[in-house]
Amino acid sequence: MTYYRFQNYAKTVRIGKIICLARTYEEHAREMNTIVTEDPLLFLKPASSVIFNHQTIVVPHMSKCLHHEVELGIIIGKKGKQINEERAIQYALGYLVALDITARDIQSIAKKNGWPWAIAKGFDTFTPLSNAVLKERVIDPQNLDLELKINGAVKQKANTNQMIYSIERIISFISEIMTLERGDLILTGTPEGVGEIKEGDVLEARLGSLCSLTVDVKCEQ
Ligand code: MG
Repeated sequence: MTYYRFQNYAKTVRIGKIICLARTYEEHAREMNTIVTEDPLLFLKPASSVIFNHQTIVVPHMSKCLHHEVELGIIIGKKGKQINEERAIQYALGYLVALDITARDIQSIAKKNGWPWAIAKGFDTFTPLSNAVLKERVIDPQNLDLELKINGAVKQKANTNQMIYSIERIISFISEIMTLERGDLILTGTPEGVGEIKEGDVLEARLGSLCSLTVDVKCEQ
């Protein structure tokens, strides 16, 4: 079992299901040669893919091309189903910055064949998470800078106000499909600028001045 690492929160919160959104920033949809959809597109990642600050992303033998995707993560604080948008934010416990590491070569084959993305997204170490902050410390989660540097060079830079769907809409939409439970994590999709990571790279992700995450990359032995 894996637990979140919170700043200034003593309770233990186990990481539940990880629900991810695809194509939530216009420019990213464009760079992937796809279009945005009216309702969010969802996929799942296993909790076993989580690593934390100062740990290492492992490039698996099965892939020749890993991509970085920096994302805002929303941690769910209490159980809910059919949550309406007006009440949705009450279900958030906190926020973090995450990387949704993707085996892009495997994903491209899956997309071409209409296969699911579980392999491309599900390897161990593919979900690095920063320490989390409680929502009370965040004035407006929909107005936070999101940034990723590789070896000191900025690769992705955006603001969460550029997301196509609001946080309220996302929580509400997901809860129409599956019961949200304390400890579930929603990864809200990545802005433009995704690209390849290689052995030896150092990735630094940041969510405003609230959260930061540093991980490196090595190949599977
Ligand atoms: Mg993603």
